[in-house]
This record gives sequence, structure tokens and C-alpha cells, in this order.
Amino acid sequence: MNKPVIATTSLAGCFGCHMSILDIDEKFLELIELVEFNKSPIDDIKTFTKPVDVGIIEGGCCNSENIHILKYFRDNCKILVSLGECAMMGGLPAMRNTIPLEECIKEAYLNGPSTVNEEKILPNDEELPIILDKVYPCHEIVKIDYFIPGCPPRADLIWDALLHLATGKKLELEYESFKYD
Ligand code: SF4
Repeated sequence: MNKPVIATTSLAGCFGCHMSILDIDEKFLELIELVEFNKSPIDDIKTFTKPVDVGIIEGGCCNSENIHILKYFRDNCKILVSLGECAMMGGLPAMRNTIPLEECIKEAYLNGPSTVNEEKILPNDEELPIILDKVYPCHEIVKIDYFIPGCPPRADLIWDALLHLATGKKLELEYESFKYD
């Protein structure tokens, strides 16, 4: 029997949600018996090699590359899941949303207390992604099917969610199972 296929990615996040996936510890051995991982930092597969059942997104969208990857996941995954606060609401990176982008760039590259940039050079290369006016949660860019809250979501919550998504069972979440710290 074919195993359900899972893919994951990190957009504007800190990889804490991926660390929380790894925090299921020895259950990871059970997980890889039940599912197959495709494109993911977990196995370092860089591009989709087959259709994916469940795509898991960490982080929101702060630049054009994030948007491109998110749409790539939406096009290749039957179910798309926002994992954690950054994917669901923008999270910490969205703290810049109240500050004009130009001011953010000046603070980062010209005026920051530890910045040394005497020639006042700003990043300007066509290879670099374009920074968006603000940080967007994933569901404002593409349709998201499920949300797993927390910063990061607890490992046992991720385990339950993956198990239910992989087996197609409905998952009811108790509010107490959410973790924010
Ligand atoms: Fe990191 Fe929290 Fe964002 Fe996950 S939700 S990427 S742990 S800041």
C-alpha cells in the first residue's frame, strides 16, 4: 500500500516549528513507517518528485521567494497546513508591519547600532528576493486547509495532527493543547 506523502517548508520562520516536529523523538520512527517524506528540510529533498498529500508550512511570507514557494506547495499538495503562529498570523516577523518598509531597511542596513556601512550600500541584486510591503500570513496568499497553532506547536500536538491527517481521521483539538511561550 502506498504511504501518504508529506512535504514541509520554512518561509519567514525561525525553524522552531520544524524543531518541534523533530521533538516527537522516537515517534519519528513510527511516523516514517506510516508516511513518506518528500520535499522537506528534514530529508533535504529540494523539489517535489511526486504528488503530495499533506504540505506543512512554517512561517509567513515576507518576500517574493516565500510567495513563490508557498504557491509551489499549494500547486503540489492536496492538503496544506499552516504550522505555528508565523504561518497563521505572521508571528514575530510581522512586528515590522506597523513600520514603513523603507524605515525598516534603513534601520537594518544604515542606521542600526551595530551597522558598519560607510558607503551606504543597500542590497540590490536581481538574484535577491523582493521584500514585501509587510509580512503576510499564508492564508492571505493561498487557500490553507488546516491550522496548527502554537509558537511552536507542541510536539505531541503535531504528532496527533500528522497521524490524523495521514490516516484521514478528523482531529478535535482542545484549547489546553495549544502552547505559546
Ligand atoms: Fe519560530 Fe514560533 Fe514562528 Fe514557529 S511560530 S517559526 S517557533 S517564531
